Amino acid sequence: MSPTDAVLQVRGLGKSFGSNTVLRGIDLDIPRGKVVALIGPSGSGKTTILRSLNGLETPDGGSVTVGARDNSAEGPLTVDFGDAALPKKARAAQLSALRDRSAMVFQHYNLFPHMTVLQNVIEGPVQVQKRPRAEVVAEAEKLLDRVGLLEKKDAYPFELSGGQQQRVGIVRALALKPQLLLFDEPTSALDPELVDDVLAVIKELADEGWTMVIVTHELAFARQTADEVVFMADGLVVERGPASQVLRHPKEERTQAFVRRLL
Ligand code: ADP
Repeated sequence: MSPTDAVLQVRGLGKSFGSNTVLRGIDLDIPRGKVVALIGPSGSGKTTILRSLNGLETPDGGSVTVGARDNSAEGPLTVDFGDAALPKKARAAQLSALRDRSAMVFQHYNLFPHMTVLQNVIEGPVQVQKRPRAEVVAEAEKLLDRVGLLEKKDAYPFELSGGQQQRVGIVRALALKPQLLLFDEPTSALDPELVDDVLAVIKELADEGWTMVIVTHELAFARQTADEVVFMADGLVVERGPASQVLRHPKEERTQAFVRRLL
């Protein structure tokens, strides 16, 4: 894979919380336009990986490289977490640059409760990315329309169903125009009847060519949507490969046991 078509390269990512080692050297490569589903038992470190990619967690070692923004002079960004001597301020700047290149969709939506739908969507692009408000509003309205929520733009999150809130969460991520979309169990907090609408939106984004990492327990969805499935356990990648192979014909016993339980 040439550096230009890799949107994400993770090397040797390690993280401990006190004496609890959560990531034990994770490598991950995602070419532009590809979708990776991250699966595995609860507590295996999946969320910690996503949070590390999004600058919300600081790993103890390893590196993360996120590809260049399209139509921009900025080159790829590499953050080396092994560099313990880096001053705090410089590290904070790196984490914020990392955050600017990816966008996260959270399990519990994490919308700002005191802001309307539209305000939630435009907050990052206007306040953080300093883009012109009128342009951002026009784009936000288009995106809301696309997920069927334009008429809800002045509503507050508590007035929406979980599925609607999560679609706003997705629109909020898209409005940041990230290189990489990160989904952390995007449907696991939803009532079963609301899951399909949200999965349909995510599938559409995959078909459109967004580069994404999706942590999910929805294995049927992963099989339809992901190019690659990565199975993790205890902070390690146990098995990875094309979705159909890992989910239908897993080689490792731990993957077999996990997949058998969920499919
Ligand atoms: P998964 O997403 O696969 O369920 P997580 O990445 O959420 O796994 O968690 C992996 C481990 O890290 C768990 O043992 C969890 O308790 C621990 N952990 C995650 N975040 C923190 C934190 N902020 N402080 C202490 N322990 C944490």
